[in-house]
Order: sequence, then structure tokens, then C-alpha cells
Amino acid sequence: MSKVLGIIGGGQLGMMITEAASKMNSEISKIIVLDPTENCPASKVGAEQIIADFKDEDAIKKLSELSDIITYEIESGNSDVLKKLEVNTEINPSPETLRIIQDKLLQKQFLRDNDIPVADFIEINNKEDLEREIDSMGLPLLLKTRRDAYDGRGNFKINSKDQIDDALDLFSGKTLMVEKFVNFQKEVSVIAARNTKGEITTYPVVENIHENNILRMTIAPGRVSDSVRKEAEEVAHKTMEVLHGAGVFGIEMFVTQDDKILINEIAPRVHNSGHHTLQSSTVSQFELHLRAILGMELGDTSIKSPTIMYNILGPGTFKGEYNVLCRQGNNIFLKMYGKLESKPQRKIGHVNIVDDKDVGISGLLQQVEELKKDLLIEPK
Ligand code: AMP
Repeated sequence: MSKVLGIIGGGQLGMMITEAASKMNSEISKIIVLDPTENCPASKVGAEQIIADFKDEDAIKKLSELSDIITYEIESGNSDVLKKLEVNTEINPSPETLRIIQDKLLQKQFLRDNDIPVADFIEINNKEDLEREIDSMGLPLLLKTRRDAYDGRGNFKINSKDQIDDALDLFSGKTLMVEKFVNFQKEVSVIAARNTKGEITTYPVVENIHENNILRMTIAPGRVSDSVRKEAEEVAHKTMEVLHGAGVFGIEMFVTQDDKILINEIAPRVHNSGHHTLQSSTVSQFELHLRAILGMELGDTSIKSPTIMYNILGPGTFKGEYNVLCRQGNNIFLKMYGKLESKPQRKIGHVNIVDDKDVGISGLLQQVEELKKDLLIEPK
């Protein structure tokens, strides 16, 4: 029987889940998103919308009454409220998994307790804790806020003891942890999925290039040795075995200088570094997520053609309505998210460049450089 799908969050991820769900008529009859922004991206591609804050208890309850199954595109949903609703409505990934992942300290403890490799870390409650840990762990360290931080906004790199007060002032009132700074070789990620029957699959590991802590580009597959690829995919598989609930997870990792994998962070949702799958794979991460939460077969996650995903960010020069000019080509796939306004550094779309002529990753990187020259976001 076809189900009503509720999604907490209707931004670009909710939009692309909605688009995938719209093609699964026999499984999903309707999509409802909860999002505070009127005319959110998902609502523009056919989802009904409840306009409310992600943590609004009444709105989440309403969504659960209207839906057969609930999922999310953001990790900041109210896990306590979701836990109560879980009795009557199917929610995936599980609210308990969400609760652990929402708190970076609990997440790292959970991973370490399950023998999954992470950098050294410890909870920080006051200045004395921080001073003591600097002495015992050594510098540099990253002071991190435990909750509600994204795109690196909750991180402060401490290089010397003089920075202790500045770091603590910046995060005053927040719960904190400290982590050993990893002098990584590369950042990579694995998009993994587990369905309600417990079956697990992963896409091949990809390489992520960040600028100012924001993902700029994903190279799929990642340029890593076979042993690194194998280890990254095994670590992702093991992570999926220990996490409860079903769905797609974005698992961000570091490759250390000696080719070891450490998990940096898990997102309990579809992930920006999985957008290449819209063109590179038979089953996109959005469809895979739906298959996982609906208990369907997971399907083929191999990469058919190497692909680079390049994020389109709002330029720093203006805020407001905008036009986009982008180079065209048979292997260039522009996806705009329908956001009314461009804001500096805001993700407003992405481009997938697919290797349709066997040019290899270096050839694709050249095409990205050419695309960047022509790509223009200008005020309307
Ligand atoms: P986060 O928001 O914690 O995922 O961090 C955002 C970015 O900060 C990551 O993509 C890394 O580039 C960097 N980062 C986070 N943790 C560490 C670490 N322990 N060592 C070095 N860089 C880090």
C-alpha cells in the first residue's frame, strides 16, 4: 500500500528526496515537509508543507498524524519529541540514533565504544579541563561545540595556550569537547545505507574538497589507494552495523598521513557529498534512502561514470534575488535548488560533470576550472 511520507526539513535535500519519491508512485502517495521557510525548495517540487520550526512540538505531532513514515533531511530535529511519536509512527533513522549523532561528544563516544577509529577527544566543562587537556594531549587541538554546529562554525583551532580565553569566550554558554587536530592527507566520505531488514550497502568512497569549511567539490570516486578505499568502505559498513534504524548516512572521514581512516562526523541523512549519485549511479542517494526506509531492495550503488560535483555558493558581493549563467554541455548537469535569494556562501545549487569521454579525473578537474570561469550568479 502506498504511504504518506513526512520529511522534517524541506531544503535542497528534502527537495531531492521529494523528487525521488515522486517517481515511486506505488510506494509513496504523498510527501509532506515541515520547514519554517515559506515556499521551501521541497514545496516547489510537489511536497505539501507545514510551515513551522523544525523543533516545534505541535508541528512535529501534526506531521506524524498526517504521515505513515517520517524521515529527515536535517539532524537538528527534536529527538525527544520524535521518540514519543515513534510509538505510533514509523520514524527512520531512529530518534535514538538521531539523539546520539546530534551531540558530537556522544557520537564520538559511541564510535570509540564500538571500536570504530576516531581522533582522540574528551569532554570540556571549564577552563581547567581545557588547560589540563592541552598539557596531556598536546597542541594543536580543536575546541568544538557539541551541538547545532555545521560547516565548521562550531570549531576553534587552538595552536597556543594564549588562545584559551578567546576560544572559550567564542563558545560561551555552549557544551564543549576538544579533539586532537588531525594533519590529514585528504577528506573523504562514504555514503552508506541500511534498510529496515538490516541489509547494508555503500557507494564507493569519494574525495571532498572544502573551502572555508564549506564543501566545494566532491570527486567520485576518490583518488585513494585500493587499501584506503577498502578500509573506508569497511569502516562505513561497520558503522552501519552498530547504528540502529534505517536510511542513508553520510560518513565523513579523514585519511591520515599514514593512510589510516578516522571518522570525523556522521550525518544521519542524505549528504552533500552524495549528490554526484544523481548522475554517476543507477540509484541516487535520494532513491536509496527511500528504498532503505521502506524496506525495499537497496539496488546498485556502483559508480557508472566518474563524476565531479561542484557546489554553487552565493557570491559574497550581494544578497537577494539572482540569475544564474552556467556553461552548457552534454555531460554538465546543473541543479538549482529554487531558493528565492542568494546569500554569501549559501548553497544555491550544484553542477555534476560526468566523464562521458574517458577523460579521467584530471580531465574532469580541467572542465571544472573552465566551468568556474563562466559560472555567474548576478543580482536580478
Ligand atoms: P566538523 O564541523 O566538525 O565536521 O568540521 C568541519 C571541518 O573542520 C572538517 O571538514 C575538517 O576540515 C575540519 N576538522 C574537523 N575536525 C578536525 C580535526 N580533528 N582535525 C583537523 N581538522 C578537523
